[in-house]
Amino acid sequence: MNSKKHPIVIAIDGTSASGKSTNAKLVAKALGYVYVDTGAMYRTLAWHCVQKKVDATNDKAIAALCRKWKTTLECVEKNHLRVVHLLVDGYFPEKEIRTPETAAAVSHVAAVPGVRKWMKLKQRECIQFGDLVMEGRDIGTNVFPETDYKFYLDATLAERSARRAADGVNENLAARDQRDSQRAVAPLMIALGAKVINNSAMTSEQTSRLLLEEIHKLMPAKK
Ligand code: C5P
Repeated sequence: MNSKKHPIVIAIDGTSASGKSTNAKLVAKALGYVYVDTGAMYRTLAWHCVQKKVDATNDKAIAALCRKWKTTLECVEKNHLRVVHLLVDGYFPEKEIRTPETAAAVSHVAAVPGVRKWMKLKQRECIQFGDLVMEGRDIGTNVFPETDYKFYLDATLAERSARRAADGVNENLAARDQRDSQRAVAPLMIALGAKVINNSAMTSEQTSRLLLEEIHKLMPAKK
């Protein structure tokens, strides 16, 4: 009998600044799973486009760049959490991908069909590192549609904008959400069977506790 366990993937999708990163990290820490931030992967490509002076609205040039960039996936331990990093030419652009310039370019880059195809394959490769908590916009609908663990986080626009402002980031979240929801390929939407959590009036402790309760309910009872 093949006793090899199939890795579990917990998909956490949702709008921008809905608390996906904070809660996905808390859940991954609590379960000892590997944390994957797929938004960071799209941001890395957006940053690479800026570096290579490729216009973020030139779909053909972006798709061509994505076909040939040299990347590596790495799983590293950081603050008691195992995290997947996407390196470009051996370099991990941690700070660079969080600039306003990258934020403005990313949802354009993420709408290119060739980019989404590449990202899906790369994100599925993360399973090599073990059980995952993966956050993004299309994890439950497109990247790992087969998983039983699907969550969708949301909060009011006012609350999400206030959270970003508290982090010192002033961004038009509504415009980015609109582009993410209206693109033709793998748009942001609630996956069939996903548990929707509106955490406008919840702390991250409360949100992550609720997520963990729901995850434990879905896990098969140990014999
Ligand atoms: O999560 P984060 O805000 O860092 O994501 C940045 C952008 O990357 C999103 O606004 C979206 O355009 C894109 N993205 C995506 N699909 C994902 C994750 C992120 O299209 N799974």
